[in-house]
Amino acid sequence: MKLKRISGFLWFVLFYLSPMLVNLVVTTDFMDGLAFLLENGLFRFSLFMDTLFFLGLLFVSLLLCFLVLRWVAVCMTRALRVPESRGVFWGMLFGGLAIFSLNGFFFPLSAYAFIAPAYLGSGLLVLPLAYAGFLLFSLATLYRRRELSHPRLVPAAMLVVCALGLGLFWPGQDREDVTLPFLADAQKPAKAAAPEAVPSASAPPNIIILGVDALSAAMLARARETGSVPTLDALLQKSVYYSRAYTPLGRTFPAWTSLLTGETPQEHGAVFNLRQLDKIKKDQLISLQRQQQGYKTIWVIDERRFNSMDQSFGFDEVVGPKAGVMDFMAQKLVDHPLFNALLQTRAAKYLLPYAYMNAAYTPSYDAKGCVNAVLAASATEKPLFLAMHLKSTHWPWESRHVRAKVEDNNPWLASYLSVLPVADWQIRDVLAGLAHQGALQNALVILMSDHGEGLSQVEKKLDSMPGTPSVVSTGHGADLLSDHQNRILLATLTFRNGKIVNAPEVVAKQVSLLDIKAALTHFLAQGEARIQANDPCLLVETGLRFKAAEGLAKPDNQELLAEVGNKYDVSAGGLQQLAEGALPGLLASKNIGVRCEKRITYYSTTARQYVAFTLDDDGLPDKPVAPPREDVERILRYAKGYGADLPPWEDKSLPPGIAPGFVFSRTIVY
Ligand SMILES: [Zn+2]
Repeated sequence: MKLKRISGFLWFVLFYLSPMLVNLVVTTDFMDGLAFLLENGLFRFSLFMDTLFFLGLLFVSLLLCFLVLRWVAVCMTRALRVPESRGVFWGMLFGGLAIFSLNGFFFPLSAYAFIAPAYLGSGLLVLPLAYAGFLLFSLATLYRRRELSHPRLVPAAMLVVCALGLGLFWPGQDREDVTLPFLADAQKPAKAAAPEAVPSASAPPNIIILGVDALSAAMLARARETGSVPTLDALLQKSVYYSRAYTPLGRTFPAWTSLLTGETPQEHGAVFNLRQLDKIKKDQLISLQRQQQGYKTIWVIDERRFNSMDQSFGFDEVVGPKAGVMDFMAQKLVDHPLFNALLQTRAAKYLLPYAYMNAAYTPSYDAKGCVNAVLAASATEKPLFLAMHLKSTHWPWESRHVRAKVEDNNPWLASYLSVLPVADWQIRDVLAGLAHQGALQNALVILMSDHGEGLSQVEKKLDSMPGTPSVVSTGHGADLLSDHQNRILLATLTFRNGKIVNAPEVVAKQVSLLDIKAALTHFLAQGEARIQANDPCLLVETGLRFKAAEGLAKPDNQELLAEVGNKYDVSAGGLQQLAEGALPGLLASKNIGVRCEKRITYYSTTARQYVAFTLDDDGLPDKPVAPPREDVERILRYAKGYGADLPPWEDKSLPPGIAPGFVFSRTIVY
C-alpha cells in the first residue's frame, strides 16, 4: 500500500512537472546556464543552499497538492460508488487539469499555457468550476450518507479554500477607479506659480524619483499621442519637462549611479552593469547624504539582474526581488501553477525571494503587489527619499498585465508599446497611494528613465549624405548616435500641500542624469527645482556589447556564453558580477563621445574612427562633419582614464566616410 502511494506520488510529480521539464529541454538556456556555472567552478555554497531550499519547497508543495487532490479524488470516487483504484486516477487527472486551466487563465504567459492555451480566455474556468462543483456534490452526497470521517471539517475547509482563492486573485486586478487628487482640477486654468515659501527647516521635503526602464523620449511622445499612457501624459502636462535630457551611459546600473552621485561612470566606477558593488565609489551618493540627514531612504526595483544596487548605496530599505545568480537559474523552475499562485502573496518574499516582485518572471509578476510593497515601505514619519525603478518595459517587453495589444509591422515596437501602459498605471497607483499617505504635502517628484531603447525604427534619414542613409538602432547603451537609445524622460513636479505648484514648462536646453543631484541639493536648500547642465557638453559612452546578443530577439545562448567566457564570476554571496580581470579589455572596447547642444562626436572602437555629426533642434544627427579638435581631445582624455589609447586628432576638413563596422555598434547606416 505504502509503495503504491509512493509510486502514485512519483507519477503525479512527473505529470505535474512535465510541461516545465519539456520547457527546460526545449529552450536550453537553463541547461546551458547550469553547465556554464559548473564548468567554470562558479557554483557557490550559497547557491547550493538556495537550490536545496528551493527543491525542498517544491517537494513540500507538490506533496501537499498531491494529498489534497488525492483526498478530493477519493471523496468523488466514494460518492459515485466506483472502484477506488480506477476512480482515484481519473479524479486526480481531473484535478490536475483543473489546476492547469486555472493557471492558464490567470497566467497566460506561463509555459503551461500550451496545455490550456490563453486564447481560450474565460473558457479555461470551465474545468476548475466543474471540478469545484463536482467536489461540492461529492461532499454533500457523502455527508447525506454519513460517510465522512470528519464532517464538521468539510465546511470549514471549503470556506478556507474559497477565501484563499478570492483573496489571491480578486482585488489585485481592479485598476480603473484610482484617481490622482492633484490632477482633479486639471480643467481649471493653471495658476502661475507664485514663489512659495521655502519649506521650514523642521519639515524637509520628500524626494520621490520615479523611473521607467528603457523609455525613450521618442517612444513616450508616441504613446502620449495614442493616449496609452494617460497618467504620464497628465503629469507631464503639469510638469517642468526637459525635452533634451540624455543618459551618459544607457544601462541601468551606471545610469542610476550617475543620477545619485552626479558623477561620470569613470568617477563613480559603475562603468558597466554588474560591476562589483565594493568597487563603486559611494561617498557622493545623495541617498547616503539624505540618510545621514534623517531621511528614510528606499530603493525599489522590480528586477535586479543587471542592477544589484543594495543597502550599501545609502538605502534603509530595498524593495524588490533578491539579487543573484539564482534569479537567472530559477526563472524556468518557478513557472508552474503552484508557484505562480504563491508569487501573488507576501509569503513569496520569504519562500521565493528571487522570483518575488520580479518583472523578469513575466508569467507571474505581480504589478499590483509591487505598488503595495512600495507604499508599505513608504509609510514613515521621517522625511522620505524614494527612488523607484520599474522594469516591465525592459526587453523582452512582455507582461501578463498587458491589456490592449498594439499592432504594428515592427513586432518589437508593438510589444514595447503594449507593455508601457503597465508602468503608467503603476506610477498612477504609487502616486495615488503616496498622496493618500500624505507624502505629497511637501515634495519634489522626478519622473525619469535611465535610458531609451532602439527598436529598429528609422530615427532619421540623413539627407545630406550620399544615398540618403538612415539612422536605425536596436537595444540600449550600444549606440551613441541614436536618439531612441539616449534621449530620456526627465521632468519635475513640485508639490506643496498636496498640490502641484510649479508652472508647466518645456525646457529645451540639453541636460542629463548627471545634473539631477545638483538640482536636488539646490532644491533642498532653496525650495526651487531647476535642472541645469553643469557642462554644456556631456561625456557619453557605451556599455557592454556582445556580438551574439546583437539580434536581440533571440540571442544564441551557446554563442553568447562562449563570448561571455570568463568575463563574469559569482561572489560568495551568489551575486553575478563582472570579473575585474576582464575590465581592461571591456573598457578599451567602449565607444566614447561628447554630446553638445549642436553636435556629437565620438570614437567608434569597431569602426576605429572618430565620427561627428551636427545635430538638429531635436538633437538628431543632421550632417556629418570633420571631428572637432576640442571634442577629440576631450574623448582622448576620458579614454585615457580607462587605460585606452585612441588615435590622436587629425586635421581634416571633410568628414571621413562611414566604415562598415557600424553594424556592430547596433547602428546600421544604410
Ligand atoms: Zn535600464
